[in-house]
Amino acid sequence: MSEHAPSSVSPPSHFIRQLIAQDNKNSRWNGAVVTRFPPEPNGYLHIGHAKSIVLNFGMAAENAGHCHLRFDDTNPEKESVEYENSIKEMVQWLGFDWDTHLYYASDYFELLYQCAVHLIKQGLAYVDSQSAEAMRSGRGTLTQAGQDSPFRGRSVEENLRLFEAMRAGKFAEGEHVLRAKIDMASPNMNLRDPALYRIRHVHHHRTKDAWCIYPMYDFAHSLSDGKEGITHSLCSLEFEDHRPLYDWCLEHCRELVPHHSQQIEFARLNLSYTVMSKRKLLALVNDGLVDGWDDPRMPTLAGLRRRGYSPASIRLFCERIGVSKSPQWVDVATLEQALRDDLEPKAKRVMAVVDPIKVIIENYPEDAQEACSASFHPSIESKDRQFVFSRELYIERDDFMHTPSKGFFRLSPGNEVRLRHAFIIKCERLETDADGQITTLYCRYDPDTKSGSGGRNVKGNIHWVSAADGIKAKARLYDRLFTIEDPDSGGDYQTHLNPNSVLERDIWLEPSIEQLPTHEAVQFERVGYFIADRKSDCRPVRVFNRAVDLKKAKF
Ligand code: ATP
Ligand code: MG
Repeated sequence: MSEHAPSSVSPPSHFIRQLIAQDNKNSRWNGAVVTRFPPEPNGYLHIGHAKSIVLNFGMAAENAGHCHLRFDDTNPEKESVEYENSIKEMVQWLGFDWDTHLYYASDYFELLYQCAVHLIKQGLAYVDSQSAEAMRSGRGTLTQAGQDSPFRGRSVEENLRLFEAMRAGKFAEGEHVLRAKIDMASPNMNLRDPALYRIRHVHHHRTKDAWCIYPMYDFAHSLSDGKEGITHSLCSLEFEDHRPLYDWCLEHCRELVPHHSQQIEFARLNLSYTVMSKRKLLALVNDGLVDGWDDPRMPTLAGLRRRGYSPASIRLFCERIGVSKSPQWVDVATLEQALRDDLEPKAKRVMAVVDPIKVIIENYPEDAQEACSASFHPSIESKDRQFVFSRELYIERDDFMHTPSKGFFRLSPGNEVRLRHAFIIKCERLETDADGQITTLYCRYDPDTKSGSGGRNVKGNIHWVSAADGIKAKARLYDRLFTIEDPDSGGDYQTHLNPNSVLERDIWLEPSIEQLPTHEAVQFERVGYFIADRKSDCRPVRVFNRAVDLKKAKF
């Protein structure tokens, strides 16, 4: 783990943490803890992957072990270098470091081939030449045993010859597969002679055209774990039924891969108002429904980063949701709260008006300016923010009410309010356009009430930006991408897309924003946390993405 990833002070316990502690106590792996994060480079990482990354790298770091980053690149059609690079970038962004332990399943293709040959020689694998359809129906069902393939009895010599010819490219795709010979009557479907190798005449982004047979997931994964000396192979719950096959592969190839890793399953993360399947996220990108994989509404790590999420907030979220074996649905509000909790003590403050209404201070001279200052954070004493008070300024439209409701202490006709870090003003009259929409508020200020001067105070305290030194910018106000909690619960998930998931606004910003680094989220006082959009050009104006409101929104 890099220095940027502080381990939490007293991490909550969970069954995997306990199990590893127990193993260490019993010197099960001589005290070693070697984990791995094994993404398939067929899409961008999402918040679900973050759970796995934090768990795998976290367990290794806590136990002075290693976590490997291993690309599970056994499906060449869907994989690419672009995905691979984005995965590396995001693991590092989250604050983790694989050090020298970067691996590729494709680096083991020769070893895996030798393992397959070894199985054939033991009479534990055979080349099946049935059609895909015949193979499928031959597998049986959950209530009905499968049937042996007519090719199950092929001799070792014939199998070796055919498998070699498969490798040499002598056959078309689908003509043959290599299957494990286990048990066609097993109650566990995964043990009914699962496929180990299939023919694919496709280019691989790393091995190029060296191979035209590719290993299946369970075979490649178990043996890659063993080859790397993984002690605790942490995977999601869907693989529980695959564990007997995982163990079978390692058990019967132990002459070539002696290390037998332990597979441990945990529940994957599901987040409300979100889809997490890479296939669906890819469709959103390809159908132009979002602005790429890193659209700030996407649950991808690239999207969350662009939205303003900090790596620490995501690690905090992952620690808070815990790890267990029961299916996990987490409210997206938990993620948002982790961000607020991370940013509150450190995000710098500035004022910004995101829905501006003009204010004229009638008793303040047109050509004058009054210097005001404030600190970048309540915990900082020095007032490094400099901005001016002037005759013309902007306040938030909803900080004014023509006919104030009960308990409304902000600006209204005849009422006083304090402009934060400046003076108390009183609204005298207003101007509307033809539609009755307020265009300008005419106010007076009380020169004896400058903030910090010890003068009188009023209940309301609102933010503002002067027209004299304010900076024009744009803000994108994001809402949830889907309108319902589980977009997968009924019909096509795309029909549940929120048509108002982004709203663009012209805003006014306090000039001290220029003093702050652009890649850190800031708090717009009383409005929310924002970050400069990393993709938008600064010209003609800067664009800020709203990461999250200050308070939990009501839905
Ligand atoms: P697919 O296999 O359909 O492409 P995947 O989500 O399994 O999708 P991988 O790249 O194989 O994608 O995932 C890498 C690792 O991340 C796996 O170990 C997987 O268990 C873990 N992972 C993926 N999604 C989640 C999730 N929602 N919660 C926790 N872990 C996850
Ligand atoms: Mg997977």
